[in-house]
Amino acid sequence: MTGPLAGVHVSDLPVSAAVREHYRASGIEELYPPQAAAVEAGITEGENVVAAIPTASGKTLIAELAMLTADGPALYAVPLRALAREKYESFADLPGVSVGISTGDFDSPDEELGAEDVVVATAEKVDSAIRNGASWVEDLACVVVDEVHLLGRERRGPTLEVTLATLQRRAPGVQIVALSATVDNPEDVASWLDAELVESTWRPVSLRTGVYDGDDVTFDDGSTLDVDVSDADEGDTDGERDTEATAALVEGSIDSGGQCLAFVRSRREAESLAMRLAEDDLAPDGDAAADLAAEIRDVDGTSTGHRLAEAAESGVGFHHAGLVNEHRALVESAFRERNLGVICATPTLAAGVNVPARRVVVRDLERYTGEEMSKLPVLEVHQMCGRAGRPHLDPYGEAVLVGDERTAEDLWDRYVDAGPEAVESQLAAREALRTHVLSVVASGFADSTASVLDLLDATFFAHQSPDVDLSGLLDTVTGELSGMELLDVGEATAETTDADTAATGDGSDALAATSLGETVSRQYVRPETGARLIEGIRTIEGMADDDVTALTALGVVCATPDMRGTYLGNRERADVYRYASRHAAAFTTAPEEADDFEAWLCAVKLARLVFEWSEGASIEALVDRYRVGPGDVESHVERTVWLLGAGDALAATLDADVDVFDRVRRRLVDSADDTPGDGVDRQPR
Ligand code: ADP
Repeated sequence: MTGPLAGVHVSDLPVSAAVREHYRASGIEELYPPQAAAVEAGITEGENVVAAIPTASGKTLIAELAMLTADGPALYAVPLRALAREKYESFADLPGVSVGISTGDFDSPDEELGAEDVVVATAEKVDSAIRNGASWVEDLACVVVDEVHLLGRERRGPTLEVTLATLQRRAPGVQIVALSATVDNPEDVASWLDAELVESTWRPVSLRTGVYDGDDVTFDDGSTLDVDVSDADEGDTDGERDTEATAALVEGSIDSGGQCLAFVRSRREAESLAMRLAEDDLAPDGDAAADLAAEIRDVDGTSTGHRLAEAAESGVGFHHAGLVNEHRALVESAFRERNLGVICATPTLAAGVNVPARRVVVRDLERYTGEEMSKLPVLEVHQMCGRAGRPHLDPYGEAVLVGDERTAEDLWDRYVDAGPEAVESQLAAREALRTHVLSVVASGFADSTASVLDLLDATFFAHQSPDVDLSGLLDTVTGELSGMELLDVGEATAETTDADTAATGDGSDALAATSLGETVSRQYVRPETGARLIEGIRTIEGMADDDVTALTALGVVCATPDMRGTYLGNRERADVYRYASRHAAAFTTAPEEADDFEAWLCAVKLARLVFEWSEGASIEALVDRYRVGPGDVESHVERTVWLLGAGDALAATLDADVDVFDRVRRRLVDSADDTPGDGVDRQPR
């Protein structure tokens, strides 16, 4: 991208002198070509823009230019809480700009955010604020959506598209800026949002991607790299050979002054690769590594924590969802400060916080999905590779996919030669539609099938599939919600008949959320979760008082689909079953009544785990006993607290004399306060 777009200087930007000075102080004089293209597309003049550009090509500045020049408050929506914090800190550095971050519970509208120039929040939080009647949303002049390609994700995607469609209605004329990874169909997203498209593959640091074929690496720029795999004996398994090649690639890069990210398929693999790499000393600075190890040990005494500290002493870190938040944050910051040479990570690291490295090695290109091994999506692999090359720090970036003589060609065709997948709406999933149809009705945004259809018509789904029978889908979903007692579906009212029949030419049913439906929507739980909680509350009402214990409430919430599942080892099964039998009187569902026995056992296991945590069991003990990660205990407790709150609110709506949800919730919150270092903040992810 050269020519007319090149040469936009910071001094040309319509922002305050202080902001210009701030940019200069951080090394920004001239805009990168994709940034200049965004200015050309009208980013500073209120135009909608979709920017589909690579990692590190300066998306943050594009977002800032839109927000700083908007005629009113701006919202920056991120997919993950960890990213909200990162962006908040970066915007808070902008002179003369007040920034808020939405970290409250899901059942509050966060009205105080109305006073800020910029609000950073997760898309889920924005959705829940809208459901709870937040008026600040209506004053927004600009909305930036980070990682908009997540529209294609199963659960997040539908929330994102319905939230965007709703926001455009609530704040008419709002400027929408969507930032995307490189995908196959950015023009679809742009035309949906009525936006100018800025598409570019330009990167500030060059990136070469290559495949290791068991012998050497061939890169897409034609160059090759010898890999000196010392320990690959004849008898090694494929897995060991891949690991040794990965180790050689990591060490080679560190020896020449770079840092590495090594991606593997699972938590266990991340830890075991880290332990293998830690056999060699890869610490850029021995003293700093020892300090880091001590800090890691201070957080907790779990076996995971011990392993992490031991690896850190050799300059090696690992990173996955089973770590407690504090450990994850320590690994990220130590890597940024160059106190770790390498992080062994699951692919989630590539979608999360910003930790670029000189070389990225992707050892595993397949992942177990619960049933079989499946190949990683191209988009995901490109996200990992895109982390290679730190602007201002590395002369170049390199990404290597580890294969062997049999797989190398396929890896090359799939991940180097071919482009990423297209973004496809997931809103057609009935579960997603149920959630969002209930929420638009419950929040007073629609009161008839015609007005819901009108909103659905503005979604990415309708844009991509104009021929789908939305009306038929809606009828199915409203029928299901009505069966769950969450929605009243009536004949057309006089008003809707007049307005909508005239407009649409056919009849339209009036829709109204029941009081239960309103509570479900406000508590931000899925309709199916609401239905399960309601069923549980009714069963509890009929139980003898003595039988209703903490386990009763925990058993109900842990069996809802909003509670993330857990793994059940073979040996655990019998033990969990015995536990359930011993406490049978406390549980609202007997094994023979369960639709899915395995899911029922998992719910019992989770209820027991959280119960023991509330009784004072240490995370160390729970991690050993239940073979979960320390971070899992943290997130299970967090989710339970949220769902107990929803259970209590539904019990109040039902006017049921059931206070056990509230009692257990309080106990968990108190235990969290009493447990130093647990860092449980009471908000679901
Ligand atoms: P991403 O596109 O991954 O969000 P960032 O916005 O974080 O990328 O930018 C990556 C790095 O490039 C940051 O360190 C940022 O300060 C720097 N940067 C962004 N724009 C410019 C520019 N025009 N000139 C010099 N450095 C820039």
